[in-house]
Amino acid sequence: MNLTGMVYRPPYEANSLLLHVTLGCSHNKCTFCHMYPDIQFTVCQMEQIEEDIEEAARVCPDIDRVFLEHGDAFVLSADKLTTIAEAIHRKLSKVKTIAMYASIQNIKHKTDAELRRLCDLGTPPEA
Ligand code: SF4
Repeated sequence: MNLTGMVYRPPYEANSLLLHVTLGCSHNKCTFCHMYPDIQFTVCQMEQIEEDIEEAARVCPDIDRVFLEHGDAFVLSADKLTTIAEAIHRKLSKVKTIAMYASIQNIKHKTDAELRRLCDLGTPPEA
């Protein structure tokens, strides 16, 4: 499992699979934030994400929550997030929730239709 630098997640994600889809934060300028000052923002390659999902499917096949790392993973395009969610549901059939940190800007840059599609992808197709 690829985990880089300090990992931050909400308390209720303590038992979730933490999956890197980005490194750092695309904004990285909030005055009060000291989370990722030394990490250059990077979008993870789909191959690496799929390898991590494969490993999780072997090690913890019953996981039902996934939290996407790092600081504002919702900055990814709706298409990339769709690809990631579909890969998760394909290999981890018990996942009921996919969550991540998001800034207001990340949300504002998506259309209502994209937000609806991503909301639906947070749950498995058969749910
Ligand atoms: S958006 Fe979040 S992670 Fe990024 S600088 Fe602001 S508080 Fe830190």
